[in-house]
Amino acid sequence: MRDRLKCVGLLAALLVVVMGCGSGEDEQGGESNSSKAARQGEGFSATEPRDNEDPPFARWDVVEGLRAGQEAPVHRADGGGRVWLDSALSLEDPVPGAPVVAGTAGRWTFGFEAGELGIAEGGLILFRVSPYWRWSQPWCLPSGAEAGTVVDPMALAMQPGLTEVTWDAEGLEFEIYAVKQGVVMRVGGRAMQAGEQVQVVYGAGGAGAKADDFAERGAPFWFAVDGDGDGFPHLLPEPARTDVIAGPPAQLVALVTSCLSPGEPGRLTVAVLDSVGSVVRSFEGRARLVDSHPSLGLPDELVFTPEDEGSLTIELRPQDEGVFRLIVEGPEGLSALSNPLVVLEGLEGILWADFHGHSQISDGTGTPADYYAYARDVAALDVVALTDHDHWGERKLDTDPETWELIRDTVREFHDPGRFVALLGYEWTSWIHGHRHVLGFDEELSLNVLSSMDPAYETPRQLWDALEGQPALTFAHHSAGGPIATNWTYRPDPILEPVTEIVSVHGVSEALDAEHAIYSPRPGNFVRDVLDEGMRFGFIGSGDSHDGHPGLPQLSNPSGIGGLAAILTEDATREGVLTAMRQRRVYATSGARIVLRCSLDGHRMGSTLSADEAKGELALLVYGTAPVRAVDLIRSGEVVETVLPEGELAFDFAMSWDLTDLQPGEYVYVRVLQVDGEQVWSSPFYVE
Ligand SMILES: [Zn+2]
Ligand SMILES: [Zn+2]
Repeated sequence: MRDRLKCVGLLAALLVVVMGCGSGEDEQGGESNSSKAARQGEGFSATEPRDNEDPPFARWDVVEGLRAGQEAPVHRADGGGRVWLDSALSLEDPVPGAPVVAGTAGRWTFGFEAGELGIAEGGLILFRVSPYWRWSQPWCLPSGAEAGTVVDPMALAMQPGLTEVTWDAEGLEFEIYAVKQGVVMRVGGRAMQAGEQVQVVYGAGGAGAKADDFAERGAPFWFAVDGDGDGFPHLLPEPARTDVIAGPPAQLVALVTSCLSPGEPGRLTVAVLDSVGSVVRSFEGRARLVDSHPSLGLPDELVFTPEDEGSLTIELRPQDEGVFRLIVEGPEGLSALSNPLVVLEGLEGILWADFHGHSQISDGTGTPADYYAYARDVAALDVVALTDHDHWGERKLDTDPETWELIRDTVREFHDPGRFVALLGYEWTSWIHGHRHVLGFDEELSLNVLSSMDPAYETPRQLWDALEGQPALTFAHHSAGGPIATNWTYRPDPILEPVTEIVSVHGVSEALDAEHAIYSPRPGNFVRDVLDEGMRFGFIGSGDSHDGHPGLPQLSNPSGIGGLAAILTEDATREGVLTAMRQRRVYATSGARIVLRCSLDGHRMGSTLSADEAKGELALLVYGTAPVRAVDLIRSGEVVETVLPEGELAFDFAMSWDLTDLQPGEYVYVRVLQVDGEQVWSSPFYVE
């Protein structure tokens, strides 16, 4: 069945795989004819639900809870007042002004002042720390108790997160109690008048309070006020904020452009990170290229100054063909092996993309600006989207137009066509039909939040109808399980949803037989299962990072799994990316920048071929980031062959299969596993 190529002469083989890209019906793309062809020609009525029943995993309880919160009356005194940070103290380095290091103890003192309408007797002030990531749970002594009188002082010293509240105003009393992630102060004795203040100390005990695991500028402490006493507090317009800095240098990352022609410029990015992947902005020092490969035009040494904020990007311009992996040695014994750079005349480039992740606005960490900056300067991505939730987490985008505007401004600021594609997006967080993120690709950034909470957009069909004709895409994710699976009874619109996310920090939704298959799996709901029903997708990965590290969330994920999308285009514009996605010119990895080329009888992966066209050879080429351990060929529902490389395992691998017997309705793709657990999937070829 197969015809194995020798693992020498890979570049020559690559030329065959890359150059042979046919001009099938999928080669036109955009919104034009191929879109119509896709709608009419894919052999199924595009988006008709098989039935309109809710899936068995529908969480109406969650939706109803969220809607009840939305409908709660907002009194004019709700959310009134202001809060500020008086001081932040590092317990490791307790000198004024020393920043708190991620994951270590600190003490934060806040002032709160009631707004002009005050707070009624029975009203509430709520102090909450971010639930992302592992700030100490705030706790407090029972009301009226003095520190040390009712609690063992040793216990006080050992349990981080003690929160103390003090005030001067006469006649005011507060009932103080802990809730999840926070402490509530119930106003008693009399109403709290405008301008009256309380002081809140978080980390008041000997152990302080543990900060976020991840470095974060402007980490928010949320304060909310129920001014009229109906039990529904509302967030103050602005939280109090503090900075949390990265830990000491613990890892080095070296990322290089994947594919170039000789003479074409590319980039090498080297970043100094702490143990969980936060960039060490204060780093000052040198790193050395062990072999700079003279033909690449790189210096031998990289010098980091504080202005570099922990990462350096330098241009390279290879003169000779070849496959290059750079070794960078940094301070304190740190070293990094880069991903492969393949240099070959006429070789088409790859854009690396992460289309899915969250910031402190919803349920992640870090500001939107730091998210895009990390993607560009540390993770060396070419394309990135921040996709905070429509109605989940701290700020709800569907009811907070100012925050949506802030994200829009950030995207505008970072977008740099030809160099870095910043996309505007959000996550349609349906607890009935599964989550989809929605991205806009127009230069005007006209995308608005169509919320899954809004009965007008609560089904996938309603969402696609509202987006029809727009330069937008939707993406089902963690579709086989995880927090909630995808309701595939709504067949995805082939124009608005041409690709699907098969891997992220949640695990793999490709198939139950994949390594690192998603948690809480729903057999029958995997992407391969729906391909068997005739749906057609290109495959991508994306992180769904909540740690502020788009493009590199695998660094802090215990399973080591992230998700990236490789886009087979050199057109680093929104339009170029959209066109490639609609043509399914993509593949998925679990985070590593593995170069994969795959063609079926000269056609590019993702293509739909006629049975006549599909007669021939499936050729595969892999340039790994670690030795290749196994290659699976998946054909129409099952793994039909697993190839275990013979002899010493190599980073580079080539082989081909004779697939002359493919029949209409079949599909075929490959999955490659490395010894380090990283994986890469081609998009499928579809036969009609
Ligand atoms: Zn989600
Ligand atoms: Zn998400």
